Amino acid sequence: MTSSTTPEPETPSDPPTTPGRQPGMPMRSGSGVTYWFDPGALCLELLTTGGPGPFARFETLRAPADLAAWAARSRLALPPGPPPALEIADADVADARRLRDALFRVAAEVAGDDEVTAILPVAGDDLARVNAFAARPPLASAAGPGGQRLWARPAGWSPRGPDAAAVGDGPALLATVARDAVDLLTGPYRGRIRACAGARCHLLYVDTSRPGRRRWCAMEHCGNRHKVAALRARRVPPPDAG
Ligand SMILES: [Zn+2]
Repeated sequence: MTSSTTPEPETPSDPPTTPGRQPGMPMRSGSGVTYWFDPGALCLELLTTGGPGPFARFETLRAPADLAAWAARSRLALPPGPPPALEIADADVADARRLRDALFRVAAEVAGDDEVTAILPVAGDDLARVNAFAARPPLASAAGPGGQRLWARPAGWSPRGPDAAAVGDGPALLATVARDAVDLLTGPYRGRIRACAGARCHLLYVDTSRPGRRRWCAMEHCGNRHKVAALRARRVPPPDAG
């Protein structure tokens, strides 16, 4: 049996040059293969940036630019800049990791990923932490005439720095993500939060499909790996054959 708690290096890939509005994120597997992963919810997209415990070695949020890049790549699709759409301070990056790690443990438990919860059980203040981030004012979204989502500067907020194009700041970004988590954890899809069935994958998603039979982070990734492994197993004769 393989060590199931050792996650494979699944890291966010560079954003596509033409930012598509297809929800999800480009990912790069440990073997360098790029695939598309749609976790089905904004808050779960944050979990692709790293995590607590053994997932810390996949950390991608180290500087304000990293969090801004995630916001651009996420289903929020904030303008990637420059100039940056968000004013993000170093403290916001640390906060983003705190929110993510709390949400990581909570979502893994709800998903019933026993391999992860065995080493990363929910901490007593994880939910309180998510709720505290959700209590802050979120980003202000707006509708464009063609149905596109735009971002507006909230009433009363103005950029502190020279970024006149900024529509919000790090705390507002994290509030938006945390509110999405509250909606997911209290909504009809709570029971559809799952961990990918791929060995050592542990990517979390919410299955919003009608039949509710999604098993993989991505069919083109873990789904195919499973198919290939199953085919191989079928071709190997049992030890007592012949
Ligand atoms: Zn997977």
